Amino acid sequence: MASRPLKKRKVADEGRIFKQEWTIQYIFIEEKGKPICLICNQSVNLMKVSNISRHYDTMHKDEFEELHDEARKPRLDKLMKALKRQLDSLFKPTIDKEKAMLSSYIVSQKNVEKCKPFSDGEFVKECLVACAMELCP
Ligand SMILES: [Zn+2]
Repeated sequence: MASRPLKKRKVADEGRIFKQEWTIQYIFIEEKGKPICLICNQSVNLMKVSNISRHYDTMHKDEFEELHDEARKPRLDKLMKALKRQLDSLFKPTIDKEKAMLSSYIVSQKNVEKCKPFSDGEFVKECLVACAMELCP
């Protein structure tokens, strides 16, 4: 009896894509290929309606059950803006790289000029003031 080789299922082959109606229905959005809950910002491992609905049912259904489609939209907009702000602040550098490098050069130059250790409080203060002038004029 010849046996057929077992065909392994791969998640990537199943063509799972995020459906827009999940945003209103389960308060989820897609971010970089992963479904993310807008309420608690947790991601669900698989792009499956069962996983997403289970998360919604167990974690947030009580809070959002009475809000129906149209009533949810303002709340959804607010949650989306909050998540976007959070993601922007995570990936946006707070200090310009060139300014940071220039401040480093200023400190090095002062160090060479004065030949003082960083244990000297006045010298450290002078360096910090010079950096502050460069970073936030
Ligand atoms: Zn959640």
